[in-house]
Amino acid sequence: MNNELVLQGIVASPGIAVGQAFLYEKEDFWIEERTISDGQVEEEVQRFLRVIEEVRGELRETRERLLEELGEEPARIFDAHVAMAEDQAILEETVDRIRRDRKNAEFAFFRTLRKVVKALRASEDPYLRERVYDVLDIQRRVASRLMGEPSPSLAHLEAEAIVVARNLTVSDTAHMHRQHVLGLVTEVGGSTSHAAILARALGVPAVVGVQGATDLVEPGDLVVVDGYRGVVHLNPDREALETYRKRRQSLLEQEARLSALRDLPAETTDGHRVSLEANIEFPEEVALCLESGAEGVGLYRTEFLFLVHPHLPTEEEQFETYWKVARKMAPRPVVIRTLDLGGDKLGLSAPPEANPFLGWRAIRVSLKHREAFLSQLRAILRASRLGNVRIMFPMISGVEEFSEAREMVEQAKAQLRQEEAEFDPDCPVGAMIEVPSAALTAERLAREADFFSIGTNDLVQYTIAVDRGNDRIAYLFDPFHPAVLRLIYETIQAGHSHGIPVALCGEMASNPLATPVLLGMGLDAFSMNPKSIPEVKEIVRRSSLSDAREVARRVLQMDRGGDVRDFLSDVL
Ligand code: PEP
Ligand code: MG
Repeated sequence: MNNELVLQGIVASPGIAVGQAFLYEKEDFWIEERTISDGQVEEEVQRFLRVIEEVRGELRETRERLLEELGEEPARIFDAHVAMAEDQAILEETVDRIRRDRKNAEFAFFRTLRKVVKALRASEDPYLRERVYDVLDIQRRVASRLMGEPSPSLAHLEAEAIVVARNLTVSDTAHMHRQHVLGLVTEVGGSTSHAAILARALGVPAVVGVQGATDLVEPGDLVVVDGYRGVVHLNPDREALETYRKRRQSLLEQEARLSALRDLPAETTDGHRVSLEANIEFPEEVALCLESGAEGVGLYRTEFLFLVHPHLPTEEEQFETYWKVARKMAPRPVVIRTLDLGGDKLGLSAPPEANPFLGWRAIRVSLKHREAFLSQLRAILRASRLGNVRIMFPMISGVEEFSEAREMVEQAKAQLRQEEAEFDPDCPVGAMIEVPSAALTAERLAREADFFSIGTNDLVQYTIAVDRGNDRIAYLFDPFHPAVLRLIYETIQAGHSHGIPVALCGEMASNPLATPVLLGMGLDAFSMNPKSIPEVKEIVRRSSLSDAREVARRVLQMDRGGDVRDFLSDVL
């Protein structure tokens, strides 16, 4: 058994996957590991030597041709290849592996070359490090010949495996089959890398940013990808493996049980219906939204589009992206939130600020950069022509700011009318309620806005004065703090007294403890990461509105967040 090792990376896609490693190094491809019988050993050795002879001939031919056609320099490129194919030590070791381990030729050769690759990669000499590609190329030639297969790609992965790669390009991931790729591990990338996004979209557990993964993992190693903790466990002992398997099994069972709820309404036992929607960052996530039974996109964080682009995305690029989401989700609603970024991130000249969270961000930036704001609004409006798009402004602090932003929507509409562009003239415009001043004046704002969406991530931060990203004070970050609960309740009341719907799109929406109390306060829509929808739906369907109202009434009278949580745990 190979060495047990635990590697830490970055969470990219949730879930637990257990399987054999498949090292994908572009030139790398699926090499089947077979154990052969004693009687087949000599035949396998001969098969290997025959193929090596063929490949050598092929390489010499190519070298000759290059020499003739292009001269000495280009031909030299092949010297290393030829030398490798003629290297007695490599041949002997492979033959030895076939005989000793009784493995098929392609696997034995692969294992032998792995050692060479590792040694070359570790070299100080850049020339030697470059030679890795020659080894991989030889390996590809020999193995594909042995297997009678053409060019390698993830599309040819034929058995279930955990793909371990230095990096995966969009086309690599685009070609992989979900039924064969159990999990993904990459060395490069953060949680917003293409591989991570696609893994999430495909529902494949993934951990990225695992340094040294392709050197530490051996083909065929047993690998556990824990996409919840960002951990990759190599060759776990029996006990650890059993724990992962049990956890995975119980998650799968839970998923299966909950997925049966997908097409059922989020309706209480006494017939009160709410809407369960999804938060997304990228259009690729729409498939997962639909799979999870999301009734709409309650929050589309458009800033990610701006973060992954090397330049400010044009109106056309934005339109294409928003339109893709609107079209795929239609007729379900899609709430597109305008940019929620600090000015610095947009490359707009902005001096550093002492308190960025209290500074120039979100709607404040948009209202200062009117051209960029108008182009985003025009793109959203153009994507609204199916009638299911809604516009939402982040970080609204009061009526003036909201009216000013809304006025910009009117300007964008006027321009589009002049250009005779299609859009939904009644596209609703809403405010995020995430600043205490907005929550406290929700009654006034409700006269101006078409809907509210409560952003508890920020509302908690600003109400309790606790930086949402600071570990040291994380214990104070409490959505069940009586002040926060009161602001949520009053916002819902204010919205309803003016006949507008109120949603909640902070993390709190996916917290099962919060479901009964938010239901009882009269919240109309819960928007969360798509994977959490089934669990929340199950709680809604088991609750009655009259009980939930009583829960909300009791909770609103409590003095301490801790009491609220204890009480809600009992209720659940
Ligand atoms: C929030 O603040 O609750 C919210 C949903 O927005 P974000 O997390 O993007 O700030
Ligand atoms: Mg926010």
